[in-house]
Amino acid sequence: DLIEIRRALVSVSDKSGLLDLAAALSAADVEIVSTGSTAKTIAGAGFAVTEVSSITGFPESLDGRVKTLHPSVHAGILADLRLESHIAQLQELEIQAFQLVVVNLYPFSETVASGAAPDDVIEQIDIGGPALVRASAKNHANVAIAVSPNTYPQIIEALTTGGTSLETRRNLAATAFAHTAAYDTGVATWFAAQLGASALPSDGVFDPAAPLPESGFPKLVERSVALAHTLRYGENSHQRAALYLEPQGHGIAQAEQLNGKEMSYNNFVDADAAVRAAWDFAEPAVAIVKHANPCGIAVSSSTALDPIASAHLRAHECDPVSAFGGVIAANRTVTLGMAETVKEIFTEVLVAPDFEPDALKLLQTKKNLRILRLPAEYARPAVELKQISGGVLMQTSDGFPDYTTDAWQLVSGEPADADTLADLVFAWKACRSVKSNAILLAQNGASVGVGMGQVNRVDSCHLAVSRAGARAAGSVAASDAFFPFADGLQVLLDAGVRAVVQPGGSVRDAEVIEAAQNAGVTMYVTGERHFFH
Ligand code: 5GP
Repeated sequence: DLIEIRRALVSVSDKSGLLDLAAALSAADVEIVSTGSTAKTIAGAGFAVTEVSSITGFPESLDGRVKTLHPSVHAGILADLRLESHIAQLQELEIQAFQLVVVNLYPFSETVASGAAPDDVIEQIDIGGPALVRASAKNHANVAIAVSPNTYPQIIEALTTGGTSLETRRNLAATAFAHTAAYDTGVATWFAAQLGASALPSDGVFDPAAPLPESGFPKLVERSVALAHTLRYGENSHQRAALYLEPQGHGIAQAEQLNGKEMSYNNFVDADAAVRAAWDFAEPAVAIVKHANPCGIAVSSSTALDPIASAHLRAHECDPVSAFGGVIAANRTVTLGMAETVKEIFTEVLVAPDFEPDALKLLQTKKNLRILRLPAEYARPAVELKQISGGVLMQTSDGFPDYTTDAWQLVSGEPADADTLADLVFAWKACRSVKSNAILLAQNGASVGVGMGQVNRVDSCHLAVSRAGARAAGSVAASDAFFPFADGLQVLLDAGVRAVVQPGGSVRDAEVIEAAQNAGVTMYVTGERHFFH
């Protein structure tokens, strides 16, 4: 099943490896047929080359839109030489067959990523290239198709070993079809994004009345990513993993690493969760995350001389046991004061918008501490994607832009004084970063007990209260979703919680509110739930 290469069509945008290939083809006496700038490059290096226009009898025209789109080329690629009739027709039409086609396509995605204007992007939609690739791949019984310089060594080897094997040609064909499919997905995504711009306003909010695009990703989700590097392993050591970057992204994936070992898969996940938690606050704030859950969140005390150090200390005090080996995110420049504390605590990752020079110097003495600089203008993704088997779920991101308590309703007890209200707002915001079911107890702008990830709300209440210990008495509580029964709330009331904020909306709200009223505790309902899974 070896097919000897006698005639090759070469038409490539990416010229890397081209001359090595041309030299090998030339040395093996293969006739090279080629297009415009590819032919020029080959001829320029001193190798014999046939211009495709001399075969088609037609000039390359319309600014290169029509080069190889011609029966003389495509019949030469598509003829199945296992059939007498095809051989006879080629002879009759005086068309010679190709045994090798080397094509790579116009750089469409790269042009999109460069921010080019729509007309320039459209000009980079390759038409003749995919036709060559698909024709050759279809006819892999007779033709070998190389779409990537990575495959040139195989071709060069085939020149000295009598030709390409069917197995090689079949593998090359599979790669080729994957290549054109990916290419067209890039084109379809770009088109959907162009159309989606009108259906989805750029402020990142779905217009419920506007239809979502039916194919491709809508503009907000357009994710053209490129491999940054492989990771040592995934969530566990037997899982392979890699980091892919969005060219225009500016999130945790693009953060600049200033110290420490290579970021692991879990480090990225936790750092992202920590940033998501800390960056929710306008005031100086720190979140400490373990296994994607905060074990402490705090804003600075209002009187602190070193606000970010104060926020960190208070976040750490929430649960020092869990904070061991944690990931810390600070939303302000890390000061020497904060660095001195962090230095004493085993920490996996510290991420912040910046570091005072002496703080960075001190922290860099900890060889294993990964230090990331993430610019303050970090962009929370406008939408979130979650993979499920057979598809992808998409939603706009949750968060608290310009948060006000205008929608809050007092349903029990006295209206909160200013300090209590501030604590309730803090608890409510902090609670959003905790995996459901989430109960967060807070005092003076710092979490004191976090109950997370339980499958019923009563257990989350018990966990929050037991973590808070003596600090539960006099704290305020936030619940990410309504209390379905009064039982969970009762756990908090028994522990001495003095004010509660929760979404409300349970069929048993009356029962829940009555329990709060009986305890004389202030309760607000927000009307808005913040599940986080
Ligand atoms: P060159 O740089 O040799 O002038 O052109 C190489 C590129 O042209 C390749 O990326 C190939 O995919 C593409 N190409 C080959 N034939 C045609 C054609 O007939 N029409 C268009 N639009 N592109 C072609």
